[in-house]
Amino acid sequence: MDNKIISGKNISESIKQNIKKEIHNKDLKICICVIQVGDVSSSNIYIQLKKLACENVGIKFKLKKFKETIKEEKIINYINWINYDEKITGIIVQLPLPSHLDKHNIINNIDPRKDIDGLTDFNLSKLILNDDPYFISCTPLGIMELLKHKEIELEGKNVTIIGRSKLVGMPLFHLLLEKNCTITLCHSKTKNINKLLKYADIVICAIGIANFINGKYLKKGCIAIDVGINKIDNQIVGDFNYKTCLNKVSYITPVPGGVGPMTISMILLNLLKAYKLEYDYL
Ligand code: NAD
Repeated sequence: MDNKIISGKNISESIKQNIKKEIHNKDLKICICVIQVGDVSSSNIYIQLKKLACENVGIKFKLKKFKETIKEEKIINYINWINYDEKITGIIVQLPLPSHLDKHNIINNIDPRKDIDGLTDFNLSKLILNDDPYFISCTPLGIMELLKHKEIELEGKNVTIIGRSKLVGMPLFHLLLEKNCTITLCHSKTKNINKLLKYADIVICAIGIANFINGKYLKKGCIAIDVGINKIDNQIVGDFNYKTCLNKVSYITPVPGGVGPMTISMILLNLLKAYKLEYDYL
């Protein structure tokens, strides 16, 4: 059974080691700025994970915290200021934002060359047009890296993605389309999702509902990529019902230890790319 489990933890470790070596050998001065509004506890955990990962490879970590009641204009002014700060290599706005703020407007003020989450209109439209975006969102990038690492042939495969967010499902759709997959992109209004799983060679679920996918609906031998992060009885679980899926799949990513660590290592890789873009030595 163990050889069915794709350990994102192991794969990301070697990526992180390479990044660390490059930063150390070339003495690169890289700094990320994470903007947080309010004090959502899950955001605090994700920010802490990013901080640890950055500091472990020699990347400086700056956290700019705003009060929950902050006006949008103040955040945008801050972003415009750090866009020009040579010491800041990459910028992330930690989501979710309080509901009075327009996240699209805020994120769009990030210089696309510092937008390491790949969420500005500039980078997203370049991705859609297959026109070499500066950055692609880290979770989809990490998933593509996992599939590549496992040497999974993508051309002609049927893929069902559940979740269409700009952060995960939507960029994945375009990345897989570019690899000549045939993709079904499901969302909260999709009817009969279980029926759409039947023909999928690869199922990727990114919705944040524990046990959403039961193995009995999966095609035998499919690949299951679990993006969801859910807390049940103080335990972190994904969107797949792991027990029922394990017998059906040829590969599955665990939660924790699958997609999550890949996302983190892609943040580091995007930061390295942002540095190289700024200093023009790609
Ligand atoms: P989101 O809230 O922006 O999007 C959720 C998507 O799920 C939407 O497209 C919505 O239409 C769809 N959805 C919701 N309920 C559904 C249902 N019943 N049936 C079908 N589709 C449904 O969330 P997101 O930022 O894309 O994150 C999704 C999940 O992935 C969350 O659990 C999040 O914590 C996790 N996540 C994990 C990583 C990682 O590195 N492992 C990274 C990003 C997000």
